Formats: sequence, C-alpha cells, structure tokens
Amino acid sequence: MDTLTGVIPDFSLVQVTQTTSSTKMELIGFQRFLSNIEDANPAVDVVVTDRHVQIRKAMATDHSNKNHQFDVWHLSKSIKKKILAIKPKKLLSEVKPWIPSILNHVWWCSREAEGNPDKLEETWTSLLYHISNRHTFPGKLVTKCGHPPLSDDAIRKKKWMAKDSPAYEALENVITNKLILRDIRHLDRFCHTGSLETYHSMMLKYCPKRMEFDYPSMVARTQLAVVDNNVNIGRKQKIGANGMLSFTTRCPKSTGRWTARKVYEKKEYDFKTDIMQSAITNQQDGTQKKTLHQLKSLTLPRNISKDPAPCKEDLVDSHRSRFI
Ligand SMILES: [Zn+2]
Repeated sequence: MDTLTGVIPDFSLVQVTQTTSSTKMELIGFQRFLSNIEDANPAVDVVVTDRHVQIRKAMATDHSNKNHQFDVWHLSKSIKKKILAIKPKKLLSEVKPWIPSILNHVWWCSREAEGNPDKLEETWTSLLYHISNRHTFPGKLVTKCGHPPLSDDAIRKKKWMAKDSPAYEALENVITNKLILRDIRHLDRFCHTGSLETYHSMMLKYCPKRMEFDYPSMVARTQLAVVDNNVNIGRKQKIGANGMLSFTTRCPKSTGRWTARKVYEKKEYDFKTDIMQSAITNQQDGTQKKTLHQLKSLTLPRNISKDPAPCKEDLVDSHRSRFI
C-alpha cells in the first residue's frame, strides 16, 4: 500500500508449495512485490514494514539504497510486551500506571523526529527524566519535555518514580534495551500502517480464513478486495440527520475502553456490476480465456516436497513395520 494515498498498486500471492518452508513466504512475497513496483515506478525510497527478521535482512543487503521504516504501532506493541514481562510483579505494578503514557511517547517521538533518528533516540530516552519528575535535562538535541509546565496539582497527583528505585531501574532496562534503541531509530519518518490493518480486516470479507480456496480463486478474491479498497479511498465522514458529523461508539473486548469512531459515507460497489457484465459478455461471445493467474496455477507444485511421491504400497508397508 502506498502510505501517502492509501492505494494498493499491486499484491503478491505466494502459495506455500512455491517455497521450501512457510516461514519464507513473507520474504518471497515482499521481494516480488517490491520488484514489480520498481519495474513500474523506480522512485521507491521509503519502505515501511513490521520487524520481520528476514525482510529486515533483505532491506539491509538487497535494498540498502532505500530507507527502511518500521510501523510505529508494531514497535509500540512490542515495547508494551517487554514492559509487561517485568518481574517480580511488585515492580511491574509500580510501572504499569505509566504504560499508556510510554506508548503515547513512542508515537510522540516518531512524530517529532522529522527524519532525524538521533533526535528520536534522545526524545525516547528522555522519558526516564520525565517519569522521575525531571523535565529539563542535558542533551545534544533535546533538553526539555515537550509538554507545557505542569501545575502543582498535576505534580502532586502523578505517581512519579524515584530515580534509582528498583522499579525505575527495571523500566530503564526496557527503555535502553539495545534492540529497542536500534529499532526505534527506524521510526524517524512517522510511518504507520493503520490503513493496511483496516484493509486486511476488510479483506476477510472476500477471503474468510475459515474457508479454503484454490490459487485462482484466492487471486480473484484478493483482486476484488484491492479494487474495493482503491475505489473507496477518500470517503467523506457522514453527516447525520442533525447536520453534524456522524460518530459511533464502541467498547472492544481487547481494551475494555469506550472510544468514538467516525462514520463514513456508504461505499461504492458499482465495480461489481461492471465485472459481472463483463463475465456475461465473455460467456456469450464464447471467449473463455484463462487469466495469467489461472495459467500460472497449472504449473504450481502440488506440495512442498522436493521428491516425487513414492508408491502408496511402500508407504503403507513402512507404516505397518513401525508397529511390529
Ligand atoms: Zn516532563
């Protein structure tokens, strides 16, 4: 997905039989997709992904001329996981009230970095000053917190962490963790893949996970999901009967917190009629051409084994011999 416009210009469908293991599917799909995009438009200079190990390696070796950004949401989720792993529980209970602020701080750092990873790293670690009620500090690029001066009341109400307390030390270990410091530098362009997550959830309508589809069906269903996404970009927020912008409220099980969400204008589905009309015309004309994907599916291996299937009787014999 192009993060600036929300358009999905291409997709790559990888069947497990095309790889040696299912773990390589993501990397193969990524390489194919990037190569297709570059063939069409060589001006790709920033790529946003999650922290997939093989993709990270491929970016560092095969695409080192491109800036590799990580999705802010993915990294903040893994920082939360690391904080929740703090032991013993007594220390965690002191750190826990700070978790929402820490996760907000990840987004803040990324937004404020303006393409400068050094500034981002300094802003990130300055969090340790803030949580211990120190709001100015020594630094090369960042020397004070970004919030306005705190009132006496706000200072009194906050559960500041004493510097050098065991809970502070445990949190410091997470904030200054080598891997976190390395990865957080990849958030300096403030890229996030929220629209892609929304697309993936919409895609389930066309490709439900509880059902199995063959390769051409999967391609056709993904194509429909992509068209659905691309023709419905930029929908406006719905105006309610009272003339006000429309919102809905929800309380997801995962957070248990009520939130408001915008309600958008209805989607456009005229493309389905066009496709059906075209299918009927093709049928009437007797032009039952196969698509490239349908032709490709004829050459796909049927399973991931490199060896041809042995004779069934031999397999049955060896199965029996294991029980003798
Ligand atoms: Zn502060």
